[in-house]
Amino acid sequence: MKKKDVIIIGGGPAGRVIVHSLHTQKSGMSVALIKNEEINVNRCAIPYGIPESTAIEKFVVSNKLVTDFGADLIVDEVVKIDPSNREVHTQGGEKYAYTHLVLATGSRPLVPPIPGVESGLIIPVRTLDNLSRLREYAARNKRAVIIGGGYIGIELAVVLRQMGLEVTIVEMLPKVLLATTEPEFIEEIETTLTENGLRLLTNQKVVEFSAHNGDGLDVVLDGGESIPADFAVLSVGVVPNIEVAAQAGLKTSRLGIQTDHCMRTSAEDIYAAGDCVEKTCYITGNPTRGEFGTNAVFMAKVVAQNILGRDKTFPGVINASATSIYDWSLGSAGLTEKMAQDSGIDAVTGYSEVLDKYPMMKGVSPIRSKLVFDRKTGRLVGGCVLQKGEGAAQNADFISFAIQMKATLEDLLNCQYATHPELAAKPSDNIYVFCAKDALGKK
Ligand SMILES: Cc1cc2nc3c(=O)[nH]c(=O)nc-3n(C[C@H](O)[C@H](O)[C@H](O)COP(=O)(O)OP(=O)(O)OC[C@H]3O[C@@H](n4cnc5c(N)ncnc54)[C@H](O)[C@@H]3O)c2cc1C
Repeated sequence: MKKKDVIIIGGGPAGRVIVHSLHTQKSGMSVALIKNEEINVNRCAIPYGIPESTAIEKFVVSNKLVTDFGADLIVDEVVKIDPSNREVHTQGGEKYAYTHLVLATGSRPLVPPIPGVESGLIIPVRTLDNLSRLREYAARNKRAVIIGGGYIGIELAVVLRQMGLEVTIVEMLPKVLLATTEPEFIEEIETTLTENGLRLLTNQKVVEFSAHNGDGLDVVLDGGESIPADFAVLSVGVVPNIEVAAQAGLKTSRLGIQTDHCMRTSAEDIYAAGDCVEKTCYITGNPTRGEFGTNAVFMAKVVAQNILGRDKTFPGVINASATSIYDWSLGSAGLTEKMAQDSGIDAVTGYSEVLDKYPMMKGVSPIRSKLVFDRKTGRLVGGCVLQKGEGAAQNADFISFAIQMKATLEDLLNCQYATHPELAAKPSDNIYVFCAKDALGKK
């Protein structure tokens, strides 16, 4: 039986970052990464890889990111962990002994038990194989239905529409994007989607996929409507891959593998990072979701430091995220007003809209933001930004960092910022200062 100082299960961003961190810190440890996907795709980029005009190879993550950083790469599936003997067993019949084990097993698409969902015309969005099928179906068909109006569903829908397909989005909630976005900003996005020819069906559930013999399918909704389509794309969330951990007796919940703040699981010398982990909300301390590549990386870095004996903690997720929809970009971090209220925070919000450049400049357009504060402490707990152009990710980063630094309404009122005619609002106007002023007036 081969023995390694560190065995990592999973070759997504969490697994790869641990390999990289141990290598750059010159740990001198023997490391093996076991993964059951021979070739990983860059999952975040899948929507943009659908047009066949770009080579699919561009969307592949090289295995060199493991092998060039001193780790052995084993393509196999771990089927059993034996914590008492410090061993993992694989599908291929191998056994490996470890000193430290990391579970970076990620998540898989949630497949709801809708009749007909296994028909082969319903494509999930996760793997290289999924991307290959999406490319093939999009290239030779005309009608697609996207199930799920979260940010991934919308990104897919926009790309398919730009390729000339007829696209319908079915979302069971009253609006798209509600999981990450303030409702005030969604109307604008929904209008943009419909103006670009996308059909949006909100407040509707798929109850059946009825495949025609070799000629597309009908997507049947609870209201009775049947949408004829050539294929459907399933994007309704993910399920953490916790099975091997649970079988080994590690503590898990429906949100993932449970860890302490050092990312240690309930078993000695076994850590976990990424989508497979139950997250803790940075703001409330409550268990939460947060399946983002960024969170996987943050946790992975903490795991690597602890394997190196450096006692590092992860303070919880802020879930900063961003997306682009036609010429809009949308970003958010922390809690929406509703999430804050649901977790018992007495929320006060501030809204503002300013021009993103000086008014006389070419291409000037509004940027809008809503910030959410805890009325009692004044602490910033969340924020959302919508703007024309590509700036929302940087704005979400600013909000996220302000939350992380426990900034208050007062801090934002006094925040010091840059200005330039082509790059920012005029000196008197700052979106966050204005949001804070607005919130102050409502306190
Ligand atoms: C379409 C799409 C768009 C996205 N866009 C964004 C974005 O814009 N921004 C963002 O932050 N995040 C985005 N994400 C989320 C991001 O991709 C995930 O959060 C990230 O991949 C999680 O990384 P991970 O390493 O935890 O897990 P994964 O990437 O899921 O990797 C886990 C790996 O472990 C393997 N594995 C599981 N079990 C076993 C086993 N028993 N034995 C061996 N191997 C195993 C899996 O096959 C997989 O290769 C997107 C995801 C999708 C699908």
